[in-house]
Amino acid sequence: MSQKPLIIALSKGRILKDTLPLLKEAGIEMLEDPSASRKLIFDTTREDVKIIVIRATDVPPYVQHGGADIGVAGKDVLMEHGAEGLFEPLDLEIARCKLMVAALKDAPPVSGRLRVATKFVNVAKSYFAQQGRQAEVIKLYGAMELAPLVGLADRIVDIVDTGNTLRANGLEPTEMIATISSRVVVNRASMKTRHSQIQAILDQVAKAVAARREQ
Ligand code: AMP
Repeated sequence: MSQKPLIIALSKGRILKDTLPLLKEAGIEMLEDPSASRKLIFDTTREDVKIIVIRATDVPPYVQHGGADIGVAGKDVLMEHGAEGLFEPLDLEIARCKLMVAALKDAPPVSGRLRVATKFVNVAKSYFAQQGRQAEVIKLYGAMELAPLVGLADRIVDIVDTGNTLRANGLEPTEMIATISSRVVVNRASMKTRHSQIQAILDQVAKAVAARREQ
């Protein structure tokens, strides 16, 4: 094989677990269990394809700048990163959740500037700007739910699935920003230079997504 292998970027956890069965339908299986290895790059059953396992937030920059040809990332991560340099050809319909604004239960409305704690700083800024609401956005890296409890913020912007995490901390969702699922992203240059190889994988994965939907 003369061409360098195609690189697919996945992230540990839900995305890896739910994406591997879909890739299997395209004949792509990891030769090693990534959870039992310290490796970051893995061979697959296809000689022309390798899989890298990186942080979820690193998938968009890896794909944008050509460190990977294809990636799988949550729509939340893609919204925060921005769409520059990325094609988003396929919704895998996995890892579904919602990106929401939440507040302490029965919190009074805030007049004036809202203080919002989140790791989705860009999403939060553009959401409140679109609504014409003034917001001071505080960047956190985790435990957003804590911020309203200790008076650090009036609102949080966070991922909600069952709502259990919010409820356990005396919070409730107040506004829905977006519904989220995992998407396939493709480097724009790779989409041109390796079109047939990538399109064949996308077609097979899309078929697997459709088949699972009909189950
Ligand atoms: P829940 O308590 O079920 O509402 O889950 C909320 C927490 O789980 C959030 O704070 C997220 O960190 C995480 N979570 C749930 N679903 C997802 C998802 N699809 N992608 C990323 N994180 C998620």
